[in-house]
Amino acid sequence: MVIKIIRNKKGRFIKGTGGNDYWKGKKQPKEMIEKRRLKLIGKVLSEDHKIKIGVANSIALMGRKNPEETKKKISISLKKAYDEGRRISCMKGKKHSNETKRKMSLSHMGKKISESTRKKHSVRLKKLYKDKNKHPFYGKKQSEETKNKIGKANSLKEHFSGDKHPNWKGGISFEPYDKNFNDKFRRAIRKRDNQVCMLCGVHREKLNRALCVHHINYDKKLTIPQNCISLCNNCHSKTSFNRELWINIFQKLMNEKYKYKYYESNQIIMELKE
Ligand SMILES: [Zn+2]
Repeated sequence: MVIKIIRNKKGRFIKGTGGNDYWKGKKQPKEMIEKRRLKLIGKVLSEDHKIKIGVANSIALMGRKNPEETKKKISISLKKAYDEGRRISCMKGKKHSNETKRKMSLSHMGKKISESTRKKHSVRLKKLYKDKNKHPFYGKKQSEETKNKIGKANSLKEHFSGDKHPNWKGGISFEPYDKNFNDKFRRAIRKRDNQVCMLCGVHREKLNRALCVHHINYDKKLTIPQNCISLCNNCHSKTSFNRELWINIFQKLMNEKYKYKYYESNQIIMELKE
């Protein structure tokens, strides 16, 4: 898999190296767009190809925001697609594992839901459960035991929510980091990377928080420069999915920039000095 990303010394993208820019700013003739569309109909893309398109799109769109009107249009067409069954949610018929549920609940902990979001939820739920029979709890009563549990959980919640919880680790991760992964190390990595997000090129100065130091192969116990990279919060969140792809992208980047060496199997080649 080859992904071409060309950057300058500061890690910023060099304009015009991201691919074919011939049509940039120009409008393609309608026939041409239609021709391309027809060509793609019925074609089955490989998973690899789909991921490539996704990454290319997310890199192209990085830092760009859709105008409100476009967002609305996208939202309407997506809703329609789901309603008509042209698009199927990836979670349909599946259930989150308990581990995922725990992580989701932890990541939401301490987050406040805005008034407007609350209202939206309320309207949606009221509509959904207009027919009382549809409510999963309709006609049922909680047993004394459950009531007790809920009461206990609620009082515990108050005592142990967010940063009051003994397991609180700053809300960053649920796995223990290597003890080498300390402030000093993180500062050194950010300095090595010129205080710039290695993916989108945004400088620390433009952010309201420090750059994240990401473990390239996701092994949080392998805290060495060859396995760590500075990312802005936004880019860091992208790395939760398509892990293998990101490992490849970042290792390639590190190799180009710092001459670190990796095997094709993504293992780090350590040069031992005698
Ligand atoms: Zn970034």
